Amino acid sequence: MSVKPILIEPNKLLRKISKPVKSVGDEERRLMDDMLDTMYAAPGIGLAAIQIGVPKRIIVMDISREENKKEPRYFVNPIIKNKNNETSKYEEGCLSVPDQFAEIERPNECEVEYLDYNGKKQLLKADGLLATCIQHEMDHLEGILFIDYLSKLKKSMIIKKLSKIKSNRIIV
Ligand code: ZN
Repeated sequence: MSVKPILIEPNKLLRKISKPVKSVGDEERRLMDDMLDTMYAAPGIGLAAIQIGVPKRIIVMDISREENKKEPRYFVNPIIKNKNNETSKYEEGCLSVPDQFAEIERPNECEVEYLDYNGKKQLLKADGLLATCIQHEMDHLEGILFIDYLSKLKKSMIIKKLSKIKSNRIIV
């Protein structure tokens, strides 16, 4: 298991649509292990494979936010089956959009079908933070970032800011 570099917006790869996984094997599990390590190290509560440059429909998540009680979740080929009409707002951030936050409105409940770490089909009814997190991460699979929901002006200001940081950032 290892920590991978996280792609930062603006980056063309982050806009790519990720491809479905044919089956969950050792390669996919190794990827999920690396993604989880990367997410915990960041630290963050969710990560999509494309954020470390792999265009596969895989998401990892842990919303427990407790150091000694980890509750990792793995979603392969997630599909939203149902969404609630009611919405909730969370102040969202993203590991690929560092230090930027904005209030985003999303359905407050969703039902998601996916394959788990062992490739077994699962159906999960999520609400609250979990529902928001799933939808945020699933947007990554479509090349969508949370800043895409903001006004053009606000979005371009954020991208400008990120580009400035990026030009003198070194990762060693
Ligand atoms: Zn994100």
